[in-house]
Amino acid sequence: MAMPKLNTDYERRPYWHSTMPLIHSRAGRQLPDSVDVAVVGGGYTGVAAARKLALQGAKAVLLEARNLGWGASTRNGGIVHPGYKWGPQSLTKRWGAATARAIYAETLEATELVFGLIRDNDIDAELRPSGWLELAWGPGHAAEFPEEAAALNAFGARARVVEKDQLRTEIGTAAYHGGLAIEPGGVLHPGKWFAGLVGLAERAGADLHDETAVRSIRRQADGRFVVETIRGAILARDVLVATNGYTDGAVPSVRRRIVPIGSYIIATEPLPEDLAHELSPTGRAYFDTRNFLSYWHVSADRRLIFGGRVSFLPTSVDRTARLLFRRMLEIHPQVAGHRVAFSWGGKVAMTFDRMPHIGRLGGIMHAVGYSGTGVLMSTYLGTRAAEWLGGGAPPALAKLRFPLVPAPYEGRPWFLPAIGEYFRLQDRLAVRGGARSSAASDEATSTGS
Ligand SMILES: Cc1cc2nc3c(=O)[nH]c(=O)nc-3n(C[C@H](O)[C@H](O)[C@H](O)COP(=O)(O)OP(=O)(O)OC[C@H]3O[C@@H](n4cnc5c(N)ncnc54)[C@H](O)[C@@H]3O)c2cc1C
Repeated sequence: MAMPKLNTDYERRPYWHSTMPLIHSRAGRQLPDSVDVAVVGGGYTGVAAARKLALQGAKAVLLEARNLGWGASTRNGGIVHPGYKWGPQSLTKRWGAATARAIYAETLEATELVFGLIRDNDIDAELRPSGWLELAWGPGHAAEFPEEAAALNAFGARARVVEKDQLRTEIGTAAYHGGLAIEPGGVLHPGKWFAGLVGLAERAGADLHDETAVRSIRRQADGRFVVETIRGAILARDVLVATNGYTDGAVPSVRRRIVPIGSYIIATEPLPEDLAHELSPTGRAYFDTRNFLSYWHVSADRRLIFGGRVSFLPTSVDRTARLLFRRMLEIHPQVAGHRVAFSWGGKVAMTFDRMPHIGRLGGIMHAVGYSGTGVLMSTYLGTRAAEWLGGGAPPALAKLRFPLVPAPYEGRPWFLPAIGEYFRLQDRLAVRGGARSSAASDEATSTGS
């Protein structure tokens, strides 16, 4: 059967923007001359840090180049999932049992933190704690699931294998070789959650500024930092860099460790109730084990929110809409005939070990590189960075060395097309039964979105 044609009258902006509360502009407000902490970047990481710093009584300022939430924090897929790119076994192989357990536990703590903030403050973020289902793209991937489920259970994340012939109880597709259902986590409305977090930060007394790009940061002889913004300089005892996939040249040491990658999403019009139920009987989030992965869920208003990594080359939301539309119908042909209403994209930050990083480089603190785990880990690491700056203990993740991109690199990832071709080949081999690519065969639990 011929593939239906994609309508072209969709809106080219995040669906979430059309349904989230307006975040009023904080542009032009007077900047302080000196602060305890300057936070650079106004997404989940920066706003969570600014909130916590204000609660701790620190004098802090948040500097956002565009407007609050302009980055990935109001563009993402809304999949809230503990865990990293690497499953418990790989974490153990790489960093030893104690560190592996400690850093995995931090993702479970992150889930508690985000879910707790939403519940305790009655934030309307459309939170659905329904867990998620990882879907095996190749038979070799499904064969790895039983061992992964055992390891996840041992690390405190309740998980079970869903055999291929049982998949229909979880999802309306026969396109996969089996599933791994993981209970902690779920989905939320990223824009509503961000607006709620901004509200919490302002109520705590955080000083937030839009349209204040930071140009450079340099250290003075007395140890303090001069933060040069387009609106003047601020003297800061400490600086937290929270710019993730939008990291620019203001902090070269962080940029040399991050590869920004495009991730794209389409959202359909609201689907009929019976179709929405057929696609997602349990309301979980879904993603598959491909390198060019897809991630999706049915939203509270019954839209299929379907995202993926479709290109490692510069591209457009029209081209990615066509690619995602085709992929969506390969997985869920039942959706044919329903309009796509929105198409958009944004940048995620990959690191060379595919782990988030928190720490200091040249005295400047960073919390970045979420590699697909950012909806949870950004709020968590922003909060932990603030606690650390206030004299608290660093998180276990701070033990990981933050690797440099192993190539001459100043922010333009010229090597991505080659990596993309390698990933594409791995995805083709997987269909013939190959194991998952990369160092670990037990890699699990990251949308990589
Ligand atoms: C399409 C898409 C889908 C995704 N889906 C998921 C998902 O389903 N689940 C998941 O866990 N993660 C997902 N992510 C990733 C997740 O959204 C991010 O990891 C998270 O939002 C990062 O938050 P952040 O605050 O660190 O960065 P961001 O929200 O990206 O904010 C960084 C901010 O820094 C600002 N900035 C940059 N340079 C400067 C400067 N020099 N001066 C001042 N400000 C500066 C930028 O303007 C930007 O607003 C997705 C991302 C995208 C793009």
